[in-house]
Amino acid sequence: MVFGVPTERLDMTMLHPEAAAFLQSPVQRMHVGGRWIDAASGETFETRDPGRGTVLANVACGGASEVDQAVRAAQEAYRTSGWSTLPPNDRAALLHRLADLIDRHAEAIAQIESLDVGKPRAQAAAFDIPHAAATLRYYADLAVHTRRREPIGVSGFEAHTLRVPYGVCGFIFPWNFPFLLVGWGVAPALAAGNTVVIKPAEDTPLSTLYFAKLAEAAGLPAGVVNVVTGFGSTAGAALAAHPGIRRMSFTGSPEVGRLVAESCGRNLVPVKLELGGKGAAVVFDDVDVAGAAKALVGAVTLNAGQVCCTATRWIVHERIRDRFVEVAKAAMQGLRIGYGGDPNADLGPVVSEKQRRRVLGYLERGIGEGAEAILSGGVAAVPGHEGGYYLKPALLRGDPENICARDEIFGPAAFLMTFREEQEAIDLVNRSTYGLANSVWSADLARAGRVAEQLVAGNSWINAHNLFAHGIPYAGCNLSGCGGGVLGPETLLDYLRSQSIVRPRA
Ligand code: NAD
Repeated sequence: MVFGVPTERLDMTMLHPEAAAFLQSPVQRMHVGGRWIDAASGETFETRDPGRGTVLANVACGGASEVDQAVRAAQEAYRTSGWSTLPPNDRAALLHRLADLIDRHAEAIAQIESLDVGKPRAQAAAFDIPHAAATLRYYADLAVHTRRREPIGVSGFEAHTLRVPYGVCGFIFPWNFPFLLVGWGVAPALAAGNTVVIKPAEDTPLSTLYFAKLAEAAGLPAGVVNVVTGFGSTAGAALAAHPGIRRMSFTGSPEVGRLVAESCGRNLVPVKLELGGKGAAVVFDDVDVAGAAKALVGAVTLNAGQVCCTATRWIVHERIRDRFVEVAKAAMQGLRIGYGGDPNADLGPVVSEKQRRRVLGYLERGIGEGAEAILSGGVAAVPGHEGGYYLKPALLRGDPENICARDEIFGPAAFLMTFREEQEAIDLVNRSTYGLANSVWSADLARAGRVAEQLVAGNSWINAHNLFAHGIPYAGCNLSGCGGGVLGPETLLDYLRSQSIVRPRA
């Protein structure tokens, strides 16, 4: 056990001393212009431990005035701190220092993340935290090797293109991978020389505040990284509508993405949208059926199914359906549901009671519309953690019009459909209004590649699901987003505007 003792109260002595010290602060303050501030109103909001349902921390509740203060601080830092004009290798050195600090404090951050999101600590420690540090290193190094001046050979002119940072970039993040997404989002913006204002999700603000603390310790100038904690309809909306930002990036649901894009549109601010998904996995009959079924159970239960790109629709060849279902059902039933701090837990709680009700509501509607419940899911009881928001994994089977086959549920729930012909499988995948990520499973790599190319989405994976690597762009199309995505080399250029410098040739 790390800190998963079966008790309703969190025992701080079980935590890493840095995590305990951080969490003992009576109010988690915002980071604005290098200072840690309360909300002007003095208001706070609670963030809960989803594994116990108890209050984990009280957090300063920022709104329009704190957002305005943060944007002004970021403007000032952009103009006067020297950050935007530092040679890229000097900026890279600071970002490497930040990445090193993340590594050094990884255990504390993983525990904070696990407590705030509910995810198993081991998953946060193995993936979320080191991946964020690696993203900083990737963009820091890429920025050093990116040309800022490119000569243009047009007769009659002496001309070159200059690439310069935009200024203040706004970021709004969701609650499923708070620390990882901060890394994916802000690393290219910072490496390019911009300053940032971050609004983390109200359900999970803690690790983002820890990120700001480490950025300060790494020596990034005051005002380069600002964090305003608060609710979406107030702090989030104020950031999206602030005329002082020069670029916006939003990760979250399509519904809120639209609102953010509308606000940015009014100010003519370019916006990146990384939105939801309804990923599918097409499984042909030549695969290792047990291996594929187990891998897909792993995918749909990762982070309690709260993963935008995961495989939620399983489109399985009719010939292997029975064996696939048998293995998948057993694998789902065999998962150990437990507290995030329990090293034996495979599947933690969902993030909130609201999210649990949402998942249960979808399952009820799906079954009401005629889906067969191979596993009906439902509330899971974890002894000693009765107040937590636990769910059993669900597996439904039905037709593609079912609500559970169409909507993003964002919980540990898969929907099974079958196919006979290749084209039928492609059509089933492409019925979705989303377009984030799908996978194709087949021993015939030519077929897998052919099908992968016909799936309408930003990402098609082969014989695996949920693959992320620095240098491979990750983005969505249709309802899953627009504006360039993350993780690619091009993402750095998204944070540098081009300026042509031209004179007539004498
Ligand atoms: P959400 O859209 O409800 O909230 C996301 C963020 O937007 C939060 O910080 C919230 O406070 C803020 N917000 C809410 N209302 C706002 C408003 N009116 N103006 C400005 N900001 C506002 O999403 P969520 O429930 O936190 O996260 C789940 C969603 O995120 C899912 O749809 C998931 O697929 C998506 N997601 C996408 C990616 C990706 O890379 N494509 C990654 C992770 C999550």
